[in-house]
Amino acid sequence: MSIPAAIAALQDKGIEVDINPSSVKAKSRDFFWYSPVLKDRLDHVIADFVATPKSEAEVIEILRVCHAEDVPVTTRGTGTGNYGQAMPLAGGCVLHLNKMNAVKDIQAGRVICEPGVLLKDLDAACNETGQEIRMYSSTWATATIGGFIAGGSGGIGSVRWGSLRDPGNIIRLRVVTMEADPRTLEITGHDLHRVSHAYGTNGIITEIEIPLAPAYDWIGIFLAFEDFEEALRYSHALASCDGILIKLATIFEAPIAKDYFQRVAPHVDQGDAVVALMVAPHAMPGWETFTSDYPGARVIYVQGQSDWPRDPGPVFEYGWNHTTLRALKVDPSITYLQIAYGNEDPIPLIMKVKERLSPEVLQHVEVTRSNGKVAMGGLTLVKFTSEERLDEIVAIHEEMGAMNFNPHRYTLEEGGRQSVDERQLEFKREADPKGLLNPGKMITWDDPDWSYDRMYAWPGLQPKSAAE
Ligand SMILES: Cc1cc2nc3c(=O)[nH]c(=O)nc-3n(C[C@H](O)[C@H](O)[C@H](O)COP(=O)(O)OP(=O)(O)OC[C@H]3O[C@@H](n4cnc5c(N)ncnc54)[C@H](O)[C@@H]3O)c2cc1C
Repeated sequence: MSIPAAIAALQDKGIEVDINPSSVKAKSRDFFWYSPVLKDRLDHVIADFVATPKSEAEVIEILRVCHAEDVPVTTRGTGTGNYGQAMPLAGGCVLHLNKMNAVKDIQAGRVICEPGVLLKDLDAACNETGQEIRMYSSTWATATIGGFIAGGSGGIGSVRWGSLRDPGNIIRLRVVTMEADPRTLEITGHDLHRVSHAYGTNGIITEIEIPLAPAYDWIGIFLAFEDFEEALRYSHALASCDGILIKLATIFEAPIAKDYFQRVAPHVDQGDAVVALMVAPHAMPGWETFTSDYPGARVIYVQGQSDWPRDPGPVFEYGWNHTTLRALKVDPSITYLQIAYGNEDPIPLIMKVKERLSPEVLQHVEVTRSNGKVAMGGLTLVKFTSEERLDEIVAIHEEMGAMNFNPHRYTLEEGGRQSVDERQLEFKREADPKGLLNPGKMITWDDPDWSYDRMYAWPGLQPKSAAE
């Protein structure tokens, strides 16, 4: 690998290259530190330089040069991924896409854009036509659409539209390959699984086409329940109620709201479970009727109606991984797990896990949709004591039948289903034959026989001594 030759060649082509050690370090980091395990493994990781293309043509030139010089390339949206997805494990080039942020075309039901546009800016552009994006991560204000598609899973809107991987939620991706002469490919249909949620390991997404939904001024709501199970049943039934349009339903076990949500805390008791909702304005009368059948539901906040001395801000910034962020700010020993409770009667399983592990493990449940049925997933808060205990907690979930997408691992497989995704692997062989894109993130590329009996440690990871 020749870093100086790559930098010189890129500068010759007029491409923006940053070699300033402090800004390169800042752009080499994502939210990996959410996990004490990843913090221990990845804190020292740093790229050699950052290249910032302004167009697809510049992406192609950067990949051409890095391919010729054998320089690894790790793509970055805004680095809010919390599985260490955007950490350049082998150094090399960080390809920063924040300047490829054009919204190119908006039609009825669809938008075409570049990958570096922030979710909030994309939504604002779509709002001008009376439309909005179907779903977004709770990092809507800071994350890019490219990073969401390559590194995320779902979020606000998933209660209505399912997850990003569900057919129909991405229409088309345009991808540049990492070869001597990079190609651009238009990816649609089943092939979308090759590159979506692949962490940029097998191609760089340079154009995105996604479907849109009608836009609403969603109303944020908080309810308190003395009984956690009733809060779960209320939320599941609400999401199942076809006539009431909601964009978010999140349930927090006590005392999450009291201990970690500073602006909500004055309005709840220590034993209260809390539900956060986003309801469409025209659905409010239906929601009021629905809620009146739950005597245990106390409506404590309705956006635009409640007069709290301290405005809580957007309700979605309490859900998804913002719950973990809020808890971490109060108690730095908190970490989390990502659990699938499924769509076949998930509430008994959640209650079983709660009974076994609370309060060391507190339930934060997101209501989603999968295969036409209401589903539930946990972004469960965990009081971290040791790696051994964390692994034990993961094993207990699995024993009980609750599948875990381990957020304390930096590889695609360990953060996913603990097995190879043949479509992604096959596409990597075709699109990145030298294995230069985001190296270390796909176990099966490096070690096809890996047994998943312990945490994978990529042999090519920058040694800690190199950073000193
Ligand atoms: C507080 C908090 C809340 C969060 N909430 C959610 C949530 O609700 N739902 C959710 O899914 N995630 C969530 N996340 C994770 C993350 O914020 C989202 O997935 C986000 O959309 C990622 O966007 P980004 O621009 O920060 O991507 P980055 O972190 O920069 O990149 C993510 C991955 O995608 C790759 N990548 C980026 N752009 C491209 C491209 N154009 N082509 C190929 N590969 C690319 C990167 O290499 C990396 O592997 C949360 C994280 C935090 C810290």
